[in-house]
Amino acid sequence: MLSRFLVLASVAHSMVAHSYFTSQNASTLEELYGPAVSPDTEIAESTDANFSTVVGPRWSAWEAPHWSGAIKPASVHDLQEVVKISVANQIPFIATNRGHGPKLGQGQFTGININLASFNTVTLDTANNLVTVGAGVKLWDIQTTLYDAGKEIQTGNSVCPGAIGVTIGGGIGMMTGMYGLMIDALQSARIVTAKGNVVTASPLENEELFWAIRGAGVNFGIVTEATYGIHEQTNGGNVTAVTFVYAAPSNRSIWELLATFDGDQPEKLSFQAVIEYDRSSNSSEVIVQFWYFGPVTEAQPYIDLFTAVGPIVASIDYLRQTDLYYESQTSGVCDEGHIVSARTLGFNRTDVASYEAHFADMTAFYQANPDFQGISVFQYYSNRVTLQTPTSETAFPWRDIQVWWLTQDRYPDSSIEPQVDEFMAGQRANLQVTSGFSTPHVYFNYAFGDEGPAAWYSEANLPKLRELKAKWDPDYVFGNGAPLY
Ligand SMILES: Cc1cc2nc3c(=O)[nH]c(=O)nc-3n(C[C@H](O)[C@H](O)[C@H](O)COP(=O)(O)OP(=O)(O)OC[C@H]3O[C@@H](n4cnc5c(N)ncnc54)[C@H](O)[C@@H]3O)c2cc1C
Repeated sequence: MLSRFLVLASVAHSMVAHSYFTSQNASTLEELYGPAVSPDTEIAESTDANFSTVVGPRWSAWEAPHWSGAIKPASVHDLQEVVKISVANQIPFIATNRGHGPKLGQGQFTGININLASFNTVTLDTANNLVTVGAGVKLWDIQTTLYDAGKEIQTGNSVCPGAIGVTIGGGIGMMTGMYGLMIDALQSARIVTAKGNVVTASPLENEELFWAIRGAGVNFGIVTEATYGIHEQTNGGNVTAVTFVYAAPSNRSIWELLATFDGDQPEKLSFQAVIEYDRSSNSSEVIVQFWYFGPVTEAQPYIDLFTAVGPIVASIDYLRQTDLYYESQTSGVCDEGHIVSARTLGFNRTDVASYEAHFADMTAFYQANPDFQGISVFQYYSNRVTLQTPTSETAFPWRDIQVWWLTQDRYPDSSIEPQVDEFMAGQRANLQVTSGFSTPHVYFNYAFGDEGPAAWYSEANLPKLRELKAKWDPDYVFGNGAPLY
């Protein structure tokens, strides 16, 4: 056992680990970490029978890291000890919650997983309109807690991603139009640093760190809890949700309709247009999912616009916010274990000709690759409120994005991966040309992983981020898959 960890540590970082392991006489993770943590902290080698219950979940099978072991700390103190011991021994680690953030290169990673699942509390302070969540909380936990209390907060659209993971990259979803990004609701965070200390980051304490974790948060430490401002429920917590399905010949008309919302999208109205392929009819189609935070009567003028394009299916629902979010669970969006990567770009305009060309290219690719099960999604959120926060306020640089394009490149085995990668990289390059931005605006949380730091964080932010990295994490123990250089 000893030799395996020595190999791991030495491959990664040279001799220090040898001396530590030798001096501590530790031959297993339990021997190395166990004495410093409470008995409730779970520790497993990758070969242990209970490993699967200790390691954090992972949504995509693509680029899965090679975990040599996993630790699930039971308390913040235990987490601090785990970080300190790992750093002292130069044992690489990645702290994860829901595992929804696959990135290119993670498949090359060997080290331990720190599973944040035990930090699963959601504490509501209705008197002050605040909610505090732990690092193991998923979006569903916030969505339901707030709904039950007659409150709401902007989150991502699915129930399954980790709440803090979504936040620290920006955090977008169907309430972005009304309230801005998740980082715009964040008021303070507690962070375990590379030295194993716990610090607060807020507008009053460690302000620059607070700036950095709002957009580039995977690089600076492990956020153990985050406190957000919350809102009174809109429309009694009910949403008008409409699904329209359009046959292939309507695609240009849909793109033309979407273009009419450029720079002028109502704050309560969000929608996404999804290109997918129906293998039974052998044709591509566009599915528009439309969400309005108000009664059907108020949404009707917009419903009429989409109806006029001639959907082959239209279903109108009026439902509770929580039921809408839960559809991500029942529809399979949250299913784990498939091979899925993503390409993404932000746009500030709808270029009808480019969308039409993309639709045609996708159709040809589906037809040439019968195993390809991917989709292409254009998410539209008003950025009026998002733009009210000055860009300099947070490390998230791309407040001018209105259209968030992403693909979900799903295939049953890696045999068609080279074709998928070449095709999708080409589509991304094509769509960049008409994105409305001279340089790629890439939402880090949706990123494939090859775009680079200037695309994720902006060229302008890099000097400050690098300065802060040198201060808080000079040895690069955090931020796997998110290099600042
Ligand atoms: C099905 C699905 C739906 C999604 N929907 C949306 C959406 O609607 N809106 C949106 O904005 N994004 C969405 N995303 C993207 C999502 O924001 C990112 O994937 C996010 O990183 C997920 O966090 P996680 O904890 O689930 O992932 P993980 O893979 O566990 O973590 C992702 C990264 O964050 C780091 N990290 C996680 N927790 C912490 C912490 N507490 N402190 C410091 N670093 C941490 C990890 O080390 C890792 O680098 C979605 C992704 C998927 C797969």
